[in-house]
Amino acid sequence: MKDERLPNDCYFHVPRFRIAPLPRPQLRRDPIIDRPVIISTDRLGRPQELVTSSELPRPTVCPFCAGNERLTTEPTYVDPQQGPWRVRVVGNTFPAVRGASDPLPETAGLFHSVAAAGIHEVVIACPQHETSLSRLPADHLADFLRALCARMSSLLRDRPELYPLIFNNHKAAAGASMAHAHAQLLALAVVPELVQRELDSASRHRKLKDACIFCDMIEHEQRDGARLVLQSPRFIVLAPFASRFPCELWLLPRHHACHFDKLSGIELTELGEVFHTVLNKLDRGLLDPPYNFVIHTAPRSAPEADAFHWHIEFLPRLTGIAGFEFGTGIHINPVPPEQAAEYLRGIRV
Ligand SMILES: [Zn+2]
Ligand SMILES: [Zn+2]
Ligand SMILES: [Zn+2]
Repeated sequence: MKDERLPNDCYFHVPRFRIAPLPRPQLRRDPIIDRPVIISTDRLGRPQELVTSSELPRPTVCPFCAGNERLTTEPTYVDPQQGPWRVRVVGNTFPAVRGASDPLPETAGLFHSVAAAGIHEVVIACPQHETSLSRLPADHLADFLRALCARMSSLLRDRPELYPLIFNNHKAAAGASMAHAHAQLLALAVVPELVQRELDSASRHRKLKDACIFCDMIEHEQRDGARLVLQSPRFIVLAPFASRFPCELWLLPRHHACHFDKLSGIELTELGEVFHTVLNKLDRGLLDPPYNFVIHTAPRSAPEADAFHWHIEFLPRLTGIAGFEFGTGIHINPVPPEQAAEYLRGIRV
């Protein structure tokens, strides 16, 4: 059958930003954890590629809005402590994990289970019913990030054995069930496999090359420039070489810093600005897409920590995760990260 597509008719759906087709699909490997992805602009001609960015309906009563505090559990953090709050943290009413670790597994032959211990909190980003973090000013986002740090820090002081993962789901297509802007802090009794792979790789690189793999990657990206989106004095934002999603971005400290919760006040102010810029570039450039972000930080006791950088991974959800991804663990991304970076560099916020 004749391919009806013109060779240049290679657009990414939202908005129609033109992608130069690659001569052939590439299998790339992430320099940190060796995770493969397929970058294939051949996928761009398909009809119906876009996941609909379904908005969540406005609830009749939103438990996260100021005035409805009675609908949540007692806060574990309120900023400021007196007067109207700007950021508020409460226990998740529907927790994925809870309680203390129980060392005794239940075993039936090959099958083992233990209590899924941990803590699951919700960080409510603002008192008004704002559905997008990108619309909060940079100084408010700095307060939001300060709340994430403070809760992580306090949690690790009380229960240093837990691994704290912070994540955010924006819109129903990215897994959100509440529209009001918020993030979640889920502290697990195990270090997640993905984070452990990052730590192991950092440790291996340190042993082999006596260098930090994150510093080496940052230095390469600064020199090369093709995947660089923005830099501030302390932070860098880039489209990773083996991006799993169109316009995936990573935000990292430019200098060694492995624990997200150790950020200083001045760093949080600057991070608020960078975070605001990233969210608004995605919002304007991709027309308010569904997305997730996750924060990876080193566990308290990790010996590899001195060769690790905490980082935020922004994962826009413009293409579906389907059978191939579930069947192989390999993502297919139709947008080369170099072209995503060039496009997002040009988006003014
Ligand atoms: Zn609300
Ligand atoms: Zn480093
Ligand atoms: Zn990571």
